[in-house]
Amino acid sequence: MKRISDTKRASIEVAKEDREAFALEFDRCWICNSPAEFASLPHATHEIVHGVNRNAGYAHRVAWLRLCAVCHANVHESWSLVEQYALKAMRDPEHYDRVELNRMRVRADDSVSEIEVVQAAASVLDKVWKRTR
Ligand SMILES: [Zn+2]
Ligand SMILES: [Zn+2]
Repeated sequence: MKRISDTKRASIEVAKEDREAFALEFDRCWICNSPAEFASLPHATHEIVHGVNRNAGYAHRVAWLRLCAVCHANVHESWSLVEQYALKAMRDPEHYDRVELNRMRVRADDSVSEIEVVQAAASVLDKVWKRTR
Protein backbone atom coordinates (compact mmCIF):
# COMPACT_ATOMS: atom_id res chain seq x y z
CA MET A 1 0.00 0.00 0.00
CA LYS A 2 1.26 3.44 -0.90
CA ARG A 3 2.27 5.59 2.05
CA ILE A 4 0.82 9.06 2.24
CA SER A 5 2.16 12.01 4.17
CA ASP A 6 0.54 13.22 7.41
CA THR A 7 -0.38 16.48 5.68
CA LYS A 8 -2.16 14.62 2.91
CA ARG A 9 -3.89 12.36 5.43
CA ALA A 10 -5.03 15.41 7.43
CA SER A 11 -6.47 17.10 4.33
CA ILE A 12 -8.36 13.94 3.39
CA GLU A 13 -9.85 13.87 6.93
CA VAL A 14 -10.91 17.53 6.67
CA ALA A 15 -12.52 16.86 3.29
CA LYS A 16 -14.40 13.90 4.77
CA GLU A 17 -15.78 16.04 7.59
CA ASP A 18 -16.75 18.81 5.17
CA ARG A 19 -18.54 16.31 2.96
CA GLU A 20 -20.43 14.82 5.89
CA ALA A 21 -21.51 18.28 7.06
CA PHE A 22 -22.62 19.10 3.51
CA ALA A 23 -24.70 15.90 3.35
CA LEU A 24 -26.41 16.82 6.62
CA GLU A 25 -27.11 20.35 5.44
CA PHE A 26 -29.02 19.08 2.39
CA ASP A 27 -31.43 16.29 3.28
CA ARG A 28 -33.29 16.54 -0.02
CA CYS A 29 -32.27 15.91 -3.61
CA TRP A 30 -31.47 19.16 -5.45
CA ILE A 31 -33.38 18.03 -8.52
CA CYS A 32 -36.44 16.00 -7.49
CA ASN A 33 -36.66 17.20 -3.86
CA SER A 34 -37.00 13.65 -2.52
CA PRO A 35 -36.00 13.34 1.14
CA ALA A 36 -32.91 11.29 2.01
CA GLU A 37 -34.56 9.59 4.96
CA PHE A 38 -37.05 7.64 2.83
CA ALA A 39 -34.71 6.81 -0.05
CA SER A 40 -34.08 3.14 -0.80
CA LEU A 41 -30.58 4.03 -1.98
CA PRO A 42 -28.51 6.66 -0.15
CA HIS A 43 -28.22 10.16 -1.58
CA ALA A 44 -24.82 11.06 -3.01
CA THR A 45 -22.50 14.02 -3.34
CA HIS A 46 -21.59 14.49 -7.00
CA GLU A 47 -18.45 16.35 -8.11
CA ILE A 48 -18.84 18.66 -11.08
CA VAL A 49 -15.12 18.13 -11.69
CA HIS A 50 -14.57 14.70 -13.21
CA GLY A 51 -11.83 12.59 -14.75
CA VAL A 52 -8.20 13.31 -13.98
CA ASN A 53 -9.10 16.45 -12.03
CA ARG A 54 -11.65 14.77 -9.80
CA ASN A 55 -9.34 14.88 -6.74
CA ALA A 56 -9.54 18.66 -6.74
CA GLY A 57 -13.32 18.44 -6.72
CA TYR A 58 -13.46 15.92 -3.89
CA ALA A 59 -12.25 18.38 -1.27
CA HIS A 60 -14.00 21.59 -2.39
CA ARG A 61 -17.64 22.41 -1.87
CA VAL A 62 -17.67 24.63 -4.93
CA ALA A 63 -17.77 21.38 -6.96
CA TRP A 64 -20.48 19.53 -5.03
CA LEU A 65 -24.12 18.74 -5.88
CA ARG A 66 -26.38 16.75 -3.54
CA LEU A 67 -28.53 14.22 -5.37
CA CYS A 68 -30.68 11.13 -4.91
CA ALA A 69 -29.44 7.95 -6.62
CA VAL A 70 -31.86 8.29 -9.56
CA CYS A 71 -31.03 11.91 -10.31
CA HIS A 72 -27.33 11.23 -9.80
CA ALA A 73 -27.42 8.57 -12.51
CA ASN A 74 -29.31 10.99 -14.75
CA VAL A 75 -26.75 13.73 -14.26
CA HIS A 76 -23.96 11.37 -15.28
CA GLU A 77 -25.92 10.15 -18.26
CA SER A 78 -27.35 13.27 -19.79
CA TRP A 79 -26.54 16.54 -18.05
CA SER A 80 -24.05 18.92 -19.63
CA LEU A 81 -21.33 20.38 -17.50
CA VAL A 82 -22.84 23.85 -17.86
CA GLU A 83 -26.18 22.55 -16.57
CA GLN A 84 -24.33 21.24 -13.52
CA TYR A 85 -22.83 24.70 -12.94
CA ALA A 86 -26.33 26.17 -13.19
CA LEU A 87 -27.78 23.71 -10.65
CA LYS A 88 -24.98 24.65 -8.23
CA ALA A 89 -25.74 28.34 -8.71
CA MET A 90 -29.44 27.74 -8.02
CA ARG A 91 -29.22 25.42 -5.01
CA ASP A 92 -26.03 26.53 -3.25
CA PRO A 93 -25.49 30.11 -4.44
CA GLU A 94 -23.12 31.12 -1.65
CA HIS A 95 -20.71 28.41 -2.74
CA TYR A 96 -21.12 28.82 -6.47
CA ASP A 97 -17.90 30.03 -8.13
CA ARG A 98 -17.75 29.57 -11.88
CA VAL A 99 -14.14 30.72 -12.31
CA GLU A 100 -12.95 28.47 -9.48
CA LEU A 101 -14.74 25.52 -11.10
CA ASN A 102 -13.13 26.31 -14.45
CA ARG A 103 -9.72 26.44 -12.76
CA MET A 104 -10.31 23.12 -10.99
CA ARG A 105 -10.97 21.66 -14.40
CA VAL A 106 -7.68 23.18 -15.56
CA ARG A 107 -9.44 25.38 -18.07
CA ALA A 108 -9.30 29.10 -18.85
CA ASP A 109 -11.22 31.35 -16.43
CA ASP A 110 -13.99 31.91 -18.96
CA SER A 111 -14.02 28.46 -20.59
CA VAL A 112 -17.54 28.23 -19.18
CA SER A 113 -18.94 31.77 -19.22
CA GLU A 114 -21.61 33.32 -17.01
CA ILE A 115 -23.86 33.81 -20.05
CA GLU A 116 -23.70 30.08 -20.78
CA VAL A 117 -24.63 29.27 -17.17
CA VAL A 118 -27.58 31.68 -17.23
CA GLN A 119 -28.78 30.11 -20.49
CA ALA A 120 -28.39 26.59 -19.07
CA ALA A 121 -30.47 27.59 -16.03
CA ALA A 122 -33.56 27.53 -18.26
CA SER A 123 -33.09 23.86 -19.18
CA VAL A 124 -32.23 23.02 -15.57
CA LEU A 125 -35.49 24.60 -14.41
CA ASP A 126 -37.29 22.54 -17.05
CA LYS A 127 -35.65 19.32 -15.77
CA VAL A 128 -36.45 20.23 -12.15
CA TRP A 129 -40.04 20.94 -13.18
CA LYS A 130 -40.29 17.53 -14.83
CA ARG A 131 -38.29 16.02 -11.96
CA THR A 132 -35.83 14.67 -14.50
CA ARG A 133 -37.08 11.07 -14.55
ZN1 LIG B 1 -33.56 13.20 -7.15
ZN1 LIG C 1 -21.33 11.83 -9.67
